[in-house]
This record gives sequence, structure tokens and C-alpha cells, in this order.
Amino acid sequence: MQVKCPKCGNEAYLENMGRATGTVVGAAAGAASTITGAAAGGKAGAIVGSFFGPVGIGVGAAAGVLLGALSAAFGGGCIGHKVGELIDENVIGMYHCPHCDHTFSL
Ligand SMILES: [Zn+2]
Repeated sequence: MQVKCPKCGNEAYLENMGRATGTVVGAAAGAASTITGAAAGGKAGAIVGSFFGPVGIGVGAAAGVLLGALSAAFGGGCIGHKVGELIDENVIGMYHCPHCDHTFSL
């Protein structure tokens, strides 16, 4: 959606306050759930590793824990980013003009 600055008529852009906050909050929430993610990853890793004997179980579990934790944190950040985008568009709705530094809402 193109929005024109009411002051100078140049193109203005949506302020990304919600998106930035959402990404951080989402990543934090994801990090909090990494323990569950890591546990699930560890279990899955151990099952895969069990095909390769006792050593495989250990290696598989360790890799699973790491991947589970990473994907939980990453997933949280992505969701937070999306939620923040919706907040920017529908709740805050603030636009900023880079030409004259004017901030306005529709
Ligand atoms: Zn302007």
C-alpha cells in the first residue's frame, strides 16, 4: 500500500515499531520454549541415532537437542516478526516520511 505524506506529498513508509518489538519478544518467547524444543529434539535424535548403535544414540540425541533448541528460538522470532507486522499495520498504523521527517497516522 502506497501512502503519501500529507506535508510534502512524497511517499511515506509504515513505521516498524511493532515488527521490531515482535521479533525480539518472539525470539525471547521462542528461547523460553527451547527447553521443550530441545527435549523433543533430543528424543527424536536419539531414535534416529539408535539405528547406529549406542554411539549413535548419544550423537543423535546431542544433535537433536541442539537443532530442537535452535528451531524453537528461530520459530519464535519468525512468529513475533509476523505478529509485529500485523500490529504495525492494524494497531499502530504510523507512517513516516523520509523526505521531511514527518510522522503521521492515517
Ligand atoms: Zn513529507
